[in-house]
Amino acid sequence: MGRTGSGRADVLDVDFLVVGGGLAGLYTALQLADRGRCLVVSKADLDISNSAWAQGGIAVALDAEDDPALHVEDTLRAGRGLSKLSAVRILASEGPDRIHELLDAGVPFDRDAQGRPSLGLEGGHGRRRIVHANGGATGLAVVRALLPKVLGHPRITVWENTRLLVLAAEAGTCRGALVQTPEGPRHVRARATVLATGGAGGLFARTTNPPSTAGDGIALAYLAGAAVADLEFMQFHPTAFAQGKPAFLLSEALRGEGAQLWNLQGERFMARYDAAGELAPRDVVARAITAEMAATGTDHVQLRLDEIGAEARQHFSSLLDGLRARGFDPMEAGIPVAPAAHYLMGGVAVDLDGHSSLGRLYAVGEAACTGVHGANRLASNSLLECLVFGHRVAAAAAEEPPADTLPADLPEPVRQLGPAERQLLGAWLFEDLGILRSHAGFARLRERLTSLPPSLEGVVASLMAAGAERRRESRGSHFRSDYPREDPALAGHLVTVLGGDPRLEFWS
Ligand SMILES: Cc1cc2nc3c(=O)[nH]c(=O)nc-3n(C[C@H](O)[C@H](O)[C@H](O)COP(=O)(O)OP(=O)(O)OC[C@H]3O[C@@H](n4cnc5c(N)ncnc54)[C@H](O)[C@@H]3O)c2cc1C
Repeated sequence: MGRTGSGRADVLDVDFLVVGGGLAGLYTALQLADRGRCLVVSKADLDISNSAWAQGGIAVALDAEDDPALHVEDTLRAGRGLSKLSAVRILASEGPDRIHELLDAGVPFDRDAQGRPSLGLEGGHGRRRIVHANGGATGLAVVRALLPKVLGHPRITVWENTRLLVLAAEAGTCRGALVQTPEGPRHVRARATVLATGGAGGLFARTTNPPSTAGDGIALAYLAGAAVADLEFMQFHPTAFAQGKPAFLLSEALRGEGAQLWNLQGERFMARYDAAGELAPRDVVARAITAEMAATGTDHVQLRLDEIGAEARQHFSSLLDGLRARGFDPMEAGIPVAPAAHYLMGGVAVDLDGHSSLGRLYAVGEAACTGVHGANRLASNSLLECLVFGHRVAAAAAEEPPADTLPADLPEPVRQLGPAERQLLGAWLFEDLGILRSHAGFARLRERLTSLPPSLEGVVASLMAAGAERRRESRGSHFRSDYPREDPALAGHLVTVLGGDPRLEFWS
C-alpha cells in the first residue's frame, strides 16, 4: 500500500479527537471537554445522522414499577444469547443517571400530567420505559439540546464536512488521524482518538439511514489493525415507508399503540407467524413481511392506523407530518411499508470503557461493539448506549498520557465509491446479505465485489459477508435459509483482525 508523507507543518495538536457528530460524538465531546481540548469532526452536517433521525425514544428504567434488572432481562432476551451480560448491566443501571443529566441539560422530553417524563411502550419491553420528545422526533430534540453546548464550549472545536481519511497508527497505538477538511487534508495529533462514526446501514439499497452511515470508522479501524466484531448482525426494521429514499421509518411505537399489518390480499397476517402478532420481535416481523411480499408478488404490505385512537395519533403527529411531507395522507389509506436495513449490532470491538484493541483508540455508539445488543438490539437501547458508554469512554480517555508524535508516514487513503458504484453495491447487499441469507448469496456477493475497485465500502461489505458466511446458524437478525436454527456451539462473537478470518470468542 502506498504511503503519504505526514509533512508536519499542518499538524493540529489536541487532547482528544472525536470523529462523528451524532449523539455518541457530541455527548462524549462534552464529557471530554472538562478534561482537555477537543476536536470534533463530522463528514456530514450535524443535523444529518442516525441520531438526529431517531424517532421513538430512549429506553430507561425510570418508573416506580420498573427496575434496571427487568431492563437487563428484556435486553438479554432480544440479544438471543449473545449479549455481554456485564455490558447490559452497565447499560441498564447507569442509564437513569444519564437521562437525568439530559433532563438537567434541558432536553424537552414529553411529560405526563404530573410533570414526569412520560414513558412509552415498545415491542420487546416488559414495562413502559421509553422516554421521548416531540412525539416521534426524539433524536432531533436531543441533538438540538446538546449542539449549542458543544458549539459554544470554549474547549471544543467542531469541523463539519470534514472526513476521517486514515487513522495514524504505529506499533499498536493510534496517535491521531489524517482528515479531509473543505480546505484540504490536515493531520491531527491526539492523546486519544474516539470513533463515533455510526453503523453501516446506509450502504444497503433499502435503508432508514442517511447515506453518510457507511461504516467508515469500522473499515478504517480494521485497516489500522483494530479488531472488529459481530458484523454479520444487521437489524432490518420491518416497517419503513415503501416509497422514497432513504426509507422513512414508521416507528415500532405505532404498532405498540395498535397499528396493524395487512397484506395486499386484505388479510391481517401476523398472527400466522407469531403469537405476539404485530408486537413480535423485529426480525420475526421483518421476515413475515418479506414472506407475504413474496407470496403476493408485491414490494410492500400495509400498515393501518384505523385502531389508533385520536389521542395516540396526536402523539405521532411528527410521523404523520413526515408522511404528508412525502405526499402521502396516512388517514386516507393503509401505509405501504417494507423492511429496510436499520441498525448494525457489530462494530469496532471494545471493552466496557470503549478501549479498542489498539492503544489510544476508542469507539462508542453504533460504530462500537460492546456486545450489549448481542444478535438483535432491543428497540430504543442504542441512544442510551451512546450516553452510557460515551460517559465511560470520556473517563477512560482522560487517563491517557500526553500524545505521541505522529508516524513519519501514513498509508494512502482508501478511496470511496462513486454514486453509480455505491448504488450497485447497495442493491447487491440487500439481495445477498439481506433478510434471508444463504451460502449461495454470499458466494454471489463475493464474486460481485471483485468487479468493483478497492474501496472503504467494499471493506465493510466483505467483513459483513465473511461474518455471515462463517456463522452457520440463524440467530437474531441473522437468518440463513440453509441453516435455519440456532446452534448452541456458536453462542459467541465473531471477531476479525486484518488479514484473518472471523474467530469465535466467548465474552461474558
Ligand atoms: C430513522 C431512525 C430511527 C431511530 N430511532 C431510534 C430510537 O428511537 N431509539 C434508539 O435508541 N435508536 C434509534 N435509532 C438508532 C440510533 O439513532 C443510532 O443507533 C444512534 O443514533 C447512533 O448514534 P451514533 O452517534 O453512534 O452515530 P450517528 O448518529 O450515525 O452519527 C455518526 C456520525 O459520524 C459521522 N461520520 C461517519 N463517517 C465519518 C467519517 N469518515 N469522518 C467524519 N465523520 C464521519 C457522521 O457524519 C455522523 O455525524 C434510529 C435510527 C434511525 C436511522
